[in-house]
Amino acid sequence: MKQKIIPFFLGESGCPGHCIYCNQALITGQDLSPSDVSSSLSGYLDRIRTPDRPFEFAFFGGSFSALPESLARELLSMVRDRFRNTNFRGIRFSTRPDCLSDAFLELSVEFKVITIELGVQSFDDRVLYSLQRNYTSSDAVSCLERITSRRIETGVQLLIGSPGETLSTHRINLRTLSGIRPGCLRIYPLLVLAGTPLEKSFLCGDFQPLTLDQAIRLAVLYMNRLEQSGIRIIKIGLQTTPTLKASVVSGPWHESFGDLCRSCRFSRQAIRLLRKKVGGTLIVNNADVPLLLGHEKHGYRLIVQKLGYPVKYKINNNQAAGKPGLE
Ligand code: SF4
Repeated sequence: MKQKIIPFFLGESGCPGHCIYCNQALITGQDLSPSDVSSSLSGYLDRIRTPDRPFEFAFFGGSFSALPESLARELLSMVRDRFRNTNFRGIRFSTRPDCLSDAFLELSVEFKVITIELGVQSFDDRVLYSLQRNYTSSDAVSCLERITSRRIETGVQLLIGSPGETLSTHRINLRTLSGIRPGCLRIYPLLVLAGTPLEKSFLCGDFQPLTLDQAIRLAVLYMNRLEQSGIRIIKIGLQTTPTLKASVVSGPWHESFGDLCRSCRFSRQAIRLLRKKVGGTLIVNNADVPLLLGHEKHGYRLIVQKLGYPVKYKINNNQAAGKPGLE
């Protein structure tokens, strides 16, 4: 059963600096100073209906482990106390590789934090430097190892389309991720947002973001390689908020970016099958019909365009979900 996660967004609370591409207030639709966090969380917890099925509570955005320890302890206690005697599985939070001390890891163990997601963004040092992240790939890997050594699950957040990115960046990312095998992965295409230093680079021609097509192809490459290595990809693309949508200056923005990527992968699998048996009929599980058709039938049109003839398909729930078959 898919895990329910109740998110609380911290804005840029705790962040030691301002990354060149980031405007968390726009991404999350929320902008909290550390002093606001506790009262905001308290109001938020009061409004939440406890889910019937197992759930987690997440502190996302910002850098949770860089908050003052007393504030983090207060927030963790509030969540733990609010969900006592419920289906609550535990807490997850996101942070940066250079902001997770051993003391904070001990605090995480004390409060039964189950997952720590690291906004690594890239394992290529040149890209990390361009993004002004102020840590290296080996800092990120050793941080992930320190989390795992406490028996806390790791998550990695990865950006694609960053300044300075080359083919070698993707080789490094894929090799490193396949080696460390985090518990889960989120992939985001880099967008140029209003009011960020990246916007200035874009406007003066120093940075060109990926096109939507390029970003989809790249995300599908990561999905194929990393899922083969047993890595669970839990999110592709940024969460849509009205403020984010209005603030995208340029880049591969699409509200259904993840669906476009999954549908593109499914279409390519279908094309490979149909090239082996021209005129064959695709067999798809009922759950995969949206993947086959794709957003506004884009997936199906891609298959027809590549093969040059209208393709037939049948629904058969004996076909494994996630892959088309052929007869
Ligand atoms: S650490 Fe994350 S939330 Fe903070 S400024 Fe950088 S990208 Fe934004």
